[in-house]
Amino acid sequence: MSQPQERPSAAAPRPWRVQATEVLSSISEAVYFLDVDDRFTWMNAAAERLLKRSADELVGRLIWAEYPDLAGSPLQETYRTARETKEPQHVEFFYGPLDRWLEVRAYANLADLVVFFRDVHERRSLDEERAAESSLIRAVLNALPARTAILDADGTILTTNAAWAAATASSGRPFAGRGGANYLQACRAAAAAGDRDARTAADGLEAVFAGRVGSFSLDYASSPSGGRSRDPSWWHMQAFPVDERRRVVVTHTDITDRVTAEQRSAWQARHDHLTALPNRAALHEAIADALTEDVGGRVTVLYMDVDGFKQVNDSLGHSAGDLLLRELASRLAHRTRPTDVVGRLGGDEFVVVARDCDASGGEALAQRFRSVFDEPFELAGTLLPLTVSIGIAASGPAHALPEDLLRDADAAMYAAKASGPNHQLLFTPALRTALEDRWQIASRLRDAAALGQFAVHWQPVVHLPSWEVTGCEALLRWNHPQRGLVPPADFIPIAEENGLIVPITRWLLQTTLAQAVDWASEGLELAIAVNVSAVHLSSGTLVDDVLRAVDHSGLPATRLMLELTETALARNPDQATEQFTTLREQGVRIAIDDFGTGYSSLSAVASLPTDVLKVDRALVSGPLPACAATPGAILGAVAALGSALDMQVLAEGVETPEQLELVRTAGCTYAQGHHLSPPVPAEQLSALLAEGRRRTGEQRLPPRSAPS
Ligand code: C2E
Ligand code: CA
Ligand code: CA
Repeated sequence: MSQPQERPSAAAPRPWRVQATEVLSSISEAVYFLDVDDRFTWMNAAAERLLKRSADELVGRLIWAEYPDLAGSPLQETYRTARETKEPQHVEFFYGPLDRWLEVRAYANLADLVVFFRDVHERRSLDEERAAESSLIRAVLNALPARTAILDADGTILTTNAAWAAATASSGRPFAGRGGANYLQACRAAAAAGDRDARTAADGLEAVFAGRVGSFSLDYASSPSGGRSRDPSWWHMQAFPVDERRRVVVTHTDITDRVTAEQRSAWQARHDHLTALPNRAALHEAIADALTEDVGGRVTVLYMDVDGFKQVNDSLGHSAGDLLLRELASRLAHRTRPTDVVGRLGGDEFVVVARDCDASGGEALAQRFRSVFDEPFELAGTLLPLTVSIGIAASGPAHALPEDLLRDADAAMYAAKASGPNHQLLFTPALRTALEDRWQIASRLRDAAALGQFAVHWQPVVHLPSWEVTGCEALLRWNHPQRGLVPPADFIPIAEENGLIVPITRWLLQTTLAQAVDWASEGLELAIAVNVSAVHLSSGTLVDDVLRAVDHSGLPATRLMLELTETALARNPDQATEQFTTLREQGVRIAIDDFGTGYSSLSAVASLPTDVLKVDRALVSGPLPACAATPGAILGAVAALGSALDMQVLAEGVETPEQLELVRTAGCTYAQGHHLSPPVPAEQLSALLAEGRRRTGEQRLPPRSAPS
């Protein structure tokens, strides 16, 4: 638009104003003219519409009088400037009475001010909305903890949030970058330098830009550039398009806490909390891995169990026990080769998984691990010597699963322990057979009494001064339907282990006392001796079980004698004293069985309330110890001990006339043994005694064995 100017014209000079108003009256933009006093001199139709007043009304009137709101407004200032400077002026202002934004341009010449103006309200509010929106977006972006950038379709960084900017400022990481830089190219460059995560990121971003995928994400670790000892941080990168122009938002979220928590709980699931060694699950895995590995299936498992650990726990307390296990764990871990795994199954049971190791290697390894115990353990200021029992199992065709190998190593450990502390044993199939045998016997034993498979054999006891048979020992026999007669040594220990010995002994007490009643009715006065297990003593029901059976039989309690082995009594003398005292008060007699085989001290035996010392047959018929001056010396000493303690001495295992003579001259009161009579069924004993009575007139055995 050209400025109206007064220019003289040669032809038909028309005043510039006429020419200008002709042109201006038809344009859509509103225009008015003001004179030097700011009075309206002319306006076009568009101006009339916008001002909602007609030209007739306004021409000749002062603008500031007609529109008092404009006085002092930016508009007045603009007009003044235009007049003073003669420069075109431009202003946008909000006009209250119209409630709209207006755009005004003012041009001044000598006399007039030409004013163009239009309603820019729509555009103005749109701009404002946009500005508000973008500042909102900026605020939201900055509030995001994730490092966030908006990329242009070619990868150029358009905007970044505060978190991103801070990261870029603090480190030159491959996944950061400043506004204006090309992010995609930065990733490509890092990829070319060998960063595999950067390569994945670049490929993923390209796929998002190309629209091949809806979004892309990647978890990556980032090692701090500073100290080596610090752990890496973990990040989750995400990229997704924001609009049709294929601009893309990229975020990097710190997931270190989550990842480390996950790592910690995964670690905890596979480790023992006390010792930090691999736990059962991890050991199973290690064995499974070794079994599937192609090393000719050569993996050997050592199963270790600390000897007497329970006593440590019981006497020194659990926290001392824990300390001991920790110390042991660290010793074991130091003794393990890098290819092997040492772990804890629980309690005092440790396992070593040795890869590429055969049976003989396993035995050598076990030797090495036993030497871990050479040095005593220090606990609460005291030195504690300890040993370990180790079972060894080398993998073979029978070991498809980790539990197979562990089970066999456990079985070998169990068998090693049975032969005393500080032993190691290699698993063999024979061991398995023996174990299965035991298991089978245990399951059959459960019903043996009910099925009538038990029988009692009786071995007479001879009173040496009178040669009379004053009693007999009840010895249990088991008629196994498949195996035939099973000796008690083969099933009593199994019964003890499986909680069967107490019910068996109850049955035995009832059966033997019933037999004694029968004999009494035949006129035979026999005291019966029943063997009682140490397990029964510690079960707490012995006194009740015995007294109830005696009561039920109606016999005087003096007819019953209980035999307990020296070893059983030595294990728990206090319990024995208490229970024996009660039983003896009721008349029941007590014998110490197998005397001379255990290692009980004389004082321990002397303090026990017992009636009879049963000298073990090893002292009667066994090979004599080299120190014995004469064959009867030890027997004589035991007999002297017995009489000093006011106990009667019974010699068992008398097999020859010489031995009988020996025990008699040594001063034993009673004798028992094959030379007098083997254990026999009840009817046979009755017949023997009937025959003896017929021949001697006394309750004696027939004269073949006893000189008349
Ligand atoms: P024990 O109590 O020492 O029983 C004596 C064992 O010596 C019996 O063996 C008996 O048959 C055997 N014997 C008797 N005289 C002679 C002899 O002159 N020479 C030799 N070499 N042996 C002789 P058995 O019946 O095989 O019993 C073995 C062990 O089993 C018993 O040793 C006892 O500890 C246990 N036992 C037997 N029956 C029972 C029972 O009912 N309950 C419990 N808890 N244990 C029993
Ligand atoms: Ca006995
Ligand atoms: Ca005995």
